[in-house]
Amino acid sequence: MWMNIGTKAQAGSRAKQDAFDPDADRLREECGVFGIFGHPQAAAITALGLHALQHRGQEAAGIVTFDGKTFSSERRNGLVGDHFSSAATIARLPGNMAVGHVRYATTGGTILRNVQPLFAELATGGFAVAHNGNLTNGLTLRRELIAGGAICQGTSDTEVMLHLVARSRKARFMERYIEALQQLEGAYSLVSLTNKKLIGARDPVGIRPLVLGELDGCYILASETCALDIIGAHFIRDIENGEVVVISENGIESIKPFPARVMRPCIFEYVYFARPDSVVHGRNVYEIRRNMGAELAKESGVDADVVVPVPDSGVPAAIGYARASGIPFELGIIRNHYVGRTFIQPTQAIREMGVRMKHSANRSVIEGKRIILLDDSIVRGTTSVKIVRMMREAGAKEVHFRISSPPIKYPDFYGIDTPERENLLAATHSMEQIREYIGCDSIAFLSIDGLYRAVGEQKRNPLQPQFTDHCFTGDYPTPLADIENEGQLQKLAMLAEAS
Ligand code: SF4
Repeated sequence: MWMNIGTKAQAGSRAKQDAFDPDADRLREECGVFGIFGHPQAAAITALGLHALQHRGQEAAGIVTFDGKTFSSERRNGLVGDHFSSAATIARLPGNMAVGHVRYATTGGTILRNVQPLFAELATGGFAVAHNGNLTNGLTLRRELIAGGAICQGTSDTEVMLHLVARSRKARFMERYIEALQQLEGAYSLVSLTNKKLIGARDPVGIRPLVLGELDGCYILASETCALDIIGAHFIRDIENGEVVVISENGIESIKPFPARVMRPCIFEYVYFARPDSVVHGRNVYEIRRNMGAELAKESGVDADVVVPVPDSGVPAAIGYARASGIPFELGIIRNHYVGRTFIQPTQAIREMGVRMKHSANRSVIEGKRIILLDDSIVRGTTSVKIVRMMREAGAKEVHFRISSPPIKYPDFYGIDTPERENLLAATHSMEQIREYIGCDSIAFLSIDGLYRAVGEQKRNPLQPQFTDHCFTGDYPTPLADIENEGQLQKLAMLAEAS
């Protein structure tokens, strides 16, 4: 994925973007990956898979294929459908092996050489890699590599993986690959391609998801099951934490090159990132989100006339809340799905109106009502302020804000775009201050144990948490080498801005 350097500038530009893009005030997944081995339509299938994973990243997309002789690559800024729906583009990607990647949109300039899959010609042959996650020692490794003479082309931590494989002294490719993996810390779900193999790898904690599927006898790797559904493939299993799967003409082989660790996948996949029709670790995301709403109703019920979701992400939890509380569910906010980021708003006054571009109040179900407004999470709170104001302007008598996840208090270092801690509303405000800032009559978040109950656990085990949940708890499951060495971060941030 893209390396979180130059964060201050990005945070600033994202804050400006909040003025007109309600979705900017959310945590964002930064990447989705896909790979297929042995299918004559490999590129077209990968394009479809990436299309289903578009919610994981909208800035850029890329596909690398191999046709037995040559690797071909197409990497573009923009949406998958903008570039990979044309027959001409797919024709430029021949071969029966492919890897693909989508990445999240930043507002800063996009550097095309960061767009994945990254590709390098190594002593062992061509090597392409697509990465979902973030290496917490990516900058440390990068500095060591540069000190040792490596020339980095982009600002991506994924590039470190190419260098580590290239510089390994091991003879066989898989030995090199595993030696490289063993130097990485943080979150990675990788899909890689060589001239003989499709390789999937998941970090020892299993923070970001990765699944194995099958279509027409061909193996597929993808971030989520929705990418299998779109092509009619069937789900085989999740790739395990710390597992490397090697797919070749000889079939599939599973390698476990790390000491065994307990899996702790990211719980936020259930809260927001994953598509509701995906099944993540055996749990249907839509059902889990409904459970979150039901738990929230049990924990913080309030007398009201209607339950109104903030669309689209608040809808399943609002359905669960309405069912559990017996209060009717109503679509009190209508979302316009045809608003793109390309709409340039020339003045502040027009930008202030921007929230209504995507969301508008359905006055007929709001006016004179006591409403329970349901959203999945609060990051900075800027959008929540506007939506509550919109409800009041539409005549709501009372607005009770309910959030189907706990307060986000800590930044992510595992591949999710979060503002700095001081910009996370819940990190710097008491509950009453949050209520006052947002302008609602009451506010309540789901408790951390309520979230765990919603995903099917009895409660969070503080000694051995079942999930990675540190945006809520501050309990980081891996070392944070880069963060501990901030001088180094600054130095490389300048490098990033110059590129
Ligand atoms: S901070 Fe942890 S729980 Fe939150 S999104 Fe990131 S990996 Fe997931």
